[in-house]
Formats: sequence, structure tokens, C-alpha cells
Amino acid sequence: MILDFDLHFGDGTDNIFAGSKIKYFHPEAREREGFLEEITRRLEEEKGYEILAISAGFDRHIEDWGRQLFTDDYQIIGTLLKEASIRNCHGRRFAVLEGGYNLQVLGKNVRAFLEGFK
Ligand SMILES: [Zn+2]
Repeated sequence: MILDFDLHFGDGTDNIFAGSKIKYFHPEAREREGFLEEITRRLEEEKGYEILAISAGFDRHIEDWGRQLFTDDYQIIGTLLKEASIRNCHGRRFAVLEGGYNLQVLGKNVRAFLEGFK
């Protein structure tokens, strides 16, 4: 299963895995609480995957394009993903950095995510 928390939908990733057993999920909620709830709900519903892959884009940050998430939210998301991987696939997980446009906050957002995800 692939979870993409970047602001932008991953057209290429979605196309590559369309029709395969690998599920691509891109939460669409535009408000902070709804976004975190959408991720939580999907991780509770989704079962049976062998590894959890993360497209880790940080452009939803409050000081980036999305203006939606705080730095601490990335730690929450990281923790949710780690816990889901432990429940469902023996903790197998990895993340790929997609970016973020505001380099003033990108580093601390990546660090917050990793604090939860590691
Ligand atoms: Zn993006």
C-alpha cells in the first residue's frame, strides 16, 4: 500500500500501480482535522498489505502551499503510519521524500515526521 500525504495527487504513482494489487491512497481533506481523520480512518480500514510505502511531501505545511498542517502534525502522521505498519505488516515501511517548497521549514518537518515514523 502506498500512502501519499503530499498536497498534490501523485498521477505517475497512481498510473503505474493502477490495476495492480498495490493500492494508492492520497487523502484529499483540505482542513487539518479532516486530513488527520482521513488518514486514521483509512489506516484502520486497510488490511492485508505487505509493506507500507510513503510518498512524503511536506507542502501541506502551514507555511507552504497547502497552509494546512503544523510541524507537530507530521510527527502524528509518522506515528500513525508506523503503528499501522506494525499492526499489518510486521513494521515493514519506508518513505520517499517528495519535497516541500519552503526550505525554511522543510528540515524541521522532515525531522518531526521521522520522530514519529522511526
Ligand atoms: Zn506537492
